[in-house]
Amino acid sequence: MRIRPRSISITSGKGGTGKTTLTANLGVALGALGKNTTILDGDLAMANLALVLGMHKCELSFLDAITGKADVEDVVYKNYGIKVVPMGFRFEDAHEVLSKVKREQAEKIINELLRQTEFLLIDAPAGIQDATIISIAAAREMIPVCNPTYTSLVDAYKVVRLANVLGSWTRGVVVNRGGKAADLSTDEVEQFMSRTLGTMPVLADIPEDPKVQEAEREGVPVVVYEPECEASVAINELAKVVAGEADLPYVPYEDRAIAETTSKLIRALTGRRV
Ligand code: ADP
Ligand code: MG
Repeated sequence: MRIRPRSISITSGKGGTGKTTLTANLGVALGALGKNTTILDGDLAMANLALVLGMHKCELSFLDAITGKADVEDVVYKNYGIKVVPMGFRFEDAHEVLSKVKREQAEKIINELLRQTEFLLIDAPAGIQDATIISIAAAREMIPVCNPTYTSLVDAYKVVRLANVLGSWTRGVVVNRGGKAADLSTDEVEQFMSRTLGTMPVLADIPEDPKVQEAEREGVPVVVYEPECEASVAINELAKVVAGEADLPYVPYEDRAIAETTSKLIRALTGRRV
């Protein structure tokens, strides 16, 4: 019997948290675990997933499939052991295209992709615009990527709430680009998320790592470019967690002496004292 495919959108409240980097590298890491994996660029306005994988010349894209100009199989490219569906963008017809993209058409294509893959990761646009809603709603699961700062965490809270409304399940959050002295700790992130949303563990804590941008410049996913660097190790571990082959690498959240940070965050969110 065929295992039910997993569809996961990678999201965040704002741009720059690391969604595209994570989609590409988690995808390649799942592929390396032997999983049949497809990654899809759902970021219509700021498409760049293919670039992170050094794919500069994709003639056809997800957009052509949505607008009926190409068949699904024509927009699936293979690279680094996985399938990649890039997104195209043309300034000339941006307005027309953006208003044309319909949720039903996108979902139809996503369902076709799901027939041929075990894992589908969708690089979602930041925020809560239409294209984000399409990307989240089309996937059963959602992984928010946040940075270890107050504002980023409050943004992540909002996308998790949005996913709840859209019927997409969030098992936990990924914290990216951490390591500075003032950053929130994993415990603080977990306690805030769990207090406001129910159990919400940190699935991975990916440090700020210069190798990520070096790899990006070369157009090679960092898990291939430098498999032993800190970011790659964390992403490979996350792939095992996502695939159900490893437990979460930490003790789940308990009440500890971080209540003050949590109440500050909750206050920032609701205006109320807790
Ligand atoms: P998003 O898709 O959320 O807008 P990106 O994945 O494009 O964010 O990342 C934004 C920038 O941050 C990129 O230049 C990327 O290389 C860099 N970046 C992402 N994660 C890390 C990290 N862990 N360490 C260092 N740089 C990172
Ligand atoms: Mg991006």
